[in-house]
Amino acid sequence: MTQFRTLKDLDAAGKRVLVRVDYNVPLKNGVVTDATRIVRSADTIKNLSDRGAKVILLSHLGRPDGEKKMEFSLSPIAAEVSKALGGKPVQFLSDAVGDAGLAAAIQKLPNGAVALLENMRFYPGEEKNDPAFVAQLAALGDIYVNDAFSAAHRAHASTEGLAKKLPAAAGLLMQAELNALQSTLDNPQRPAMAIVGGAKVSSKVDVLLHLLSRVDILAVGGGMANTFLLAQGYNIGKSLCDKESIDIAKKILSSAKEQNKEVLLPIDTIVAPELKAGVATAIAPVSAIPADQMILDIGPASVVKLAQKLASVKTVLWNGPMGVFEVPPFDAGTNALAREVARLTEARKILSVAGGGDTVAALEHAKVADQLSYMSTAGGAFLEWLEGKELPGVAALMQAGLKKTG
Ligand code: AMP
Repeated sequence: MTQFRTLKDLDAAGKRVLVRVDYNVPLKNGVVTDATRIVRSADTIKNLSDRGAKVILLSHLGRPDGEKKMEFSLSPIAAEVSKALGGKPVQFLSDAVGDAGLAAAIQKLPNGAVALLENMRFYPGEEKNDPAFVAQLAALGDIYVNDAFSAAHRAHASTEGLAKKLPAAAGLLMQAELNALQSTLDNPQRPAMAIVGGAKVSSKVDVLLHLLSRVDILAVGGGMANTFLLAQGYNIGKSLCDKESIDIAKKILSSAKEQNKEVLLPIDTIVAPELKAGVATAIAPVSAIPADQMILDIGPASVVKLAQKLASVKTVLWNGPMGVFEVPPFDAGTNALAREVARLTEARKILSVAGGGDTVAALEHAKVADQLSYMSTAGGAFLEWLEGKELPGVAALMQAGLKKTG
């Protein structure tokens, strides 16, 4: 397994440590409406601060496109970070990167202090990964820590460039995320099973192909299963279907056969004449979907079959809901499967990792989000990892891990 340096490899006392966090959080009228990402960054900050480092936090927020658009200022975030640190003061440094004042303010920070810089994307050099901007940032610190897995699919100055310029290590969140992903995809305990749901095959072709090459069983649910059913010759009535993906679905099914892998599709479904809460629903086997109905969830027999398979595996990776979980009762299949994954995880029968897009919302809705082995809140980065892509921010940490400790 490729390795990277972690906080324990760093001599942090008295050092200026630039920590890339992901504070790209939802804001309404300057108020943070979901502080999950801020709360999750606290352990790394506390670890470094307790060891006497001067902690300088870097993040982006939204898409200001290289301009100082104050609606994207990180200034309201400092108070939230302070709250997450149990009231420890967090100084917001609004001076621009490159200003002498900023370097002086950082020098003046006492050991153990925490400061937050302005939105990295206010600077055109950030997204361009401009070497001059990387050098200006690097001059502000002695060590770089990346704790923003969710931004690691971007090769930007604060996510990739800095790792090549300063001694670099993964923060605790990044470390947990990489360990979870490596132990599900790179080196899983077998048998390993992937559960993929969501709306369309077309948006997850690479995810499906890559997962198939890594796991033993690929279970497909949600709207994307409709395309697979159609590819197998079933009628799917008025169900959502991306017809242009039928050939891809066929290719995935034949590739599975060649690799001696199992693809699990729903055997029954919950159908309704329209997508509406409280509408009359029925259970329909996949061989008898009425022409005037649409598939909106997997059925009870499919849930039982998935549960039986889950009982035979050691590793589970889950992305995408099994049905339209936002509209009850079409959340039943996702909820039942989520509870079973949580139960097996708590009984230490499986290692379970979930994440990407709507999956966090679906598992929170099922009230099991904190019962899985690991739940990734990284959207795009998690999906790119599932596609087998190299994430620039992670690759830079791996390269830094090969060098001598700084
Ligand atoms: P994705 O972002 O690709 O994971 O897709 C998630 C979306 O897929 C959710 O908003 C679900 O409502 C939707 N979805 C899941 N199953 C179905 C289905 N059978 N028909 C239509 N949409 C579905």
